Amino acid sequence: MSGIFELTELKDRIIIAGGGLVGGVAAAMLADKGHQIDLYELRDDPRNENAAAGRSINLSLSHRGMRSLRQIGMEEECLANGVKMPARMIHKVSGETYEVPYGRTKEHFILSISRLRLNQMILTAAEKRENVNLHFNHRITDVDLSGTLKFSDKPDASGDVLIGADGAYSKVRSKMARGVFDFSQTYIPHGYKELVMDKAENGDWRLPKNYLHIWPRGQFMMIALPNLDGSFTCTLFLPFEMFKTIETQESGIAFMEEHFPDSISIFGRDNLMKQFGPGTTPGLPMISVKTSPHSVDNTVIVGDAAHAIVPFYGQGMNAGMEDIAVLMDTYAKHNDLKSAIKEYGVFRPKDAHAIADLAMYNYIEMRDLVTSNWFLFRRSLDRLLATVLPGSVIPLYEMVVFRPQMGYSNAIERNKKQSTMIDWTLAAAATASLAFALKKLTREGTLSSLQFDKLSIGSAQDFVSSLLK
Ligand SMILES: Cc1cc2nc3c(=O)[nH]c(=O)nc-3n(C[C@H](O)[C@H](O)[C@H](O)COP(=O)(O)OP(=O)(O)OC[C@H]3O[C@@H](n4cnc5c(N)ncnc54)[C@H](O)[C@@H]3O)c2cc1C
Repeated sequence: MSGIFELTELKDRIIIAGGGLVGGVAAAMLADKGHQIDLYELRDDPRNENAAAGRSINLSLSHRGMRSLRQIGMEEECLANGVKMPARMIHKVSGETYEVPYGRTKEHFILSISRLRLNQMILTAAEKRENVNLHFNHRITDVDLSGTLKFSDKPDASGDVLIGADGAYSKVRSKMARGVFDFSQTYIPHGYKELVMDKAENGDWRLPKNYLHIWPRGQFMMIALPNLDGSFTCTLFLPFEMFKTIETQESGIAFMEEHFPDSISIFGRDNLMKQFGPGTTPGLPMISVKTSPHSVDNTVIVGDAAHAIVPFYGQGMNAGMEDIAVLMDTYAKHNDLKSAIKEYGVFRPKDAHAIADLAMYNYIEMRDLVTSNWFLFRRSLDRLLATVLPGSVIPLYEMVVFRPQMGYSNAIERNKKQSTMIDWTLAAAATASLAFALKKLTREGTLSSLQFDKLSIGSAQDFVSSLLK
């Protein structure tokens, strides 16, 4: 009798719905605690030939996701399979570019990685644990929250604990929603469409490689993430109304010429043209889902099943993988999985809601604010203050992306306090400078004392409020 078998005899048997990015991590992590795991996935094994990439070709992996992947021994493998992006590169309509770093140290980078490759690696890591069984081509049609999955054409599967990692349109969540359960979903009025920028003839990347490229255009934008093979995956984020105007090859290329003129020669006109028109992927929807609690009975939902978010903070998968690490921390505290699930299900929604809100906000930042001088000034100031006042000021992006030890909701709270403090300091500094300048003018006789009294108060107030806008 193997050691693992002895252990699993005593431990809750776990069934997992969904073998995507989060389900696979859950399988590996819980297997390491000695549980017997059976994971059920709708699709064929993505490690087979001709597997589809899924909802996006690549995505950005950062510290929260990496924390969980490190725990299952995958950090090195991920780094070897990704491209580091320590900064964004902003492309203006004029073709000029500038960079905005993501953080302040060399550890502050996000990693561009293929979704398919990552999913394959996670499943392989899970399967290496002898107490994990993966079952593909299993379509879940119904769920019993005491721990049973029902399939379209296969016998039921039961366990002591059920983990719902079946994505944004989760069957497990649907079943939970029939009870005492808060649920909201929002489709944003924008869709996304991926475009492939092939590698250059010499095999090189056609844009500087170690950046997340952004073409912000106010109400819409395009981004590009590098792939290991020299290509870039670009994504257009547009209002659906706008997608309707670019349904032909001609209108697609005309749109690109008007708004992203520098990209035409980089894509190659013919290559780009082929990616518009009949038969190509249209604009796809993006959904944001909030739920509470995340557990009912013996069942817990994780990843997109619990909190699908819009992709503008690059945190959906990261938050989902973090769910599992947080669940394991709770488990370590209780030493009992069912108690851990109960507690986790009540406290985790706060952080899930926080990242859903942050992701919505970041859409405006990425497509619009990132071009404003005030925004760029504040970003530089935040970085400067974080360097001269370490521990007192931490930029929001850094808290959200690079500080897994801080919950998303704490990051929002702390940022509010910091922003108020910085705004007041700026306002005080602006008022003092203005008063000084006016006084100087008065001394020099340019303004009379009377004018100064009237002007200084009103102008300083206007100036300060214009700064804070
Ligand atoms: C365009 C786009 C870009 C994104 N970019 C990023 C990014 O850069 N960084 C980031 O962190 N996140 C990103 N995300 C979010 C990320 O894709 C998700 O948060 C992540 O995939 C969630 O993983 P999951 O395992 O919870 O769900 P999924 O990856 O959706 O996996 C769910 C699994 O459940 C299976 N399943 C579903 N229904 C059933 C059923 N009835 N029976 C059996 N199995 C079922 C599915 O086949 C799937 O394999 C992006 C999302 C989009 C749309």
